[in-house]
Amino acid sequence: MSHLLNGGRVRFPGVSADLWELQFDSRGTALAGVSIAALATAFAVDRCKTAIDMGRCSGLLAAQETVLLTHCHSDHVAGLIAWLSAHTRRHRGRPTRVVVPRERRTELLAALGIWPDLDGVRRRVDLDEALVGASPDTTIELADGGSARAFAVRHNTAALGWAVTTDHTSRPALVFAGDGTVEPFRDDTALLDSEIAVVDCSFVDPGTRVAARLGGHGHLMDWIELLPDLRCDALVLAHLPPETTAESILERLPEDLPGTATIVPWVAGPR
Ligand SMILES: [Zn+2]
Repeated sequence: MSHLLNGGRVRFPGVSADLWELQFDSRGTALAGVSIAALATAFAVDRCKTAIDMGRCSGLLAAQETVLLTHCHSDHVAGLIAWLSAHTRRHRGRPTRVVVPRERRTELLAALGIWPDLDGVRRRVDLDEALVGASPDTTIELADGGSARAFAVRHNTAALGWAVTTDHTSRPALVFAGDGTVEPFRDDTALLDSEIAVVDCSFVDPGTRVAARLGGHGHLMDWIELLPDLRCDALVLAHLPPETTAESILERLPEDLPGTATIVPWVAGPR
């Protein structure tokens, strides 16, 4: 109908499916966000007022009070500038915290300290206080009784995974593997024991498994092979290549999936 507005002088663009913030629920735990390799990864666990990575910002992400960074590659942190600006303005007075692998804290603080026209943010929040360094086994208390524990992963830069617990049970509601190879999870499959495990699936094409491992990333076949040993309820295949469609993933999955986990490719559903 939009073409009829104002005699056809007002028109609206269509909504492209790949711009949607995707969302998934399992047993009352809700995950929302975007994750496209090399472009942007940013998830929200609204229940704990927590974001994991901030490759881009959105209204939902701006409302989160803690950002747990897995690493500082630009597709995981580029939205921090927008988040700091929107969060400290639109949610003024709320906690503002960015947790970063300890080895990168000094550089990230310096970058935010000199970013042009971030003066309003620097007046509203003490960045030195807001940036918290983390190492494997660091535990961060989150809103609503939640907590996050960092664990080691194998990427091509300083990187962490995060296990997020939303109540006082020991089993994490969510585990974010961040970017990295499958090896730490092959060595210890219990790392992914959770309601929702979000893993790096940057490579999906046959013949690219070695390239994936050498580049510090996961491959679809790695995760399919690991399925019989995984105890997560849902395995989210995140960080998929930009051109990925639901159909291209479905045609690469075996008819009889081993194991019990539900597979959730983080891409808009079949059209
Ligand atoms: Zn990365």
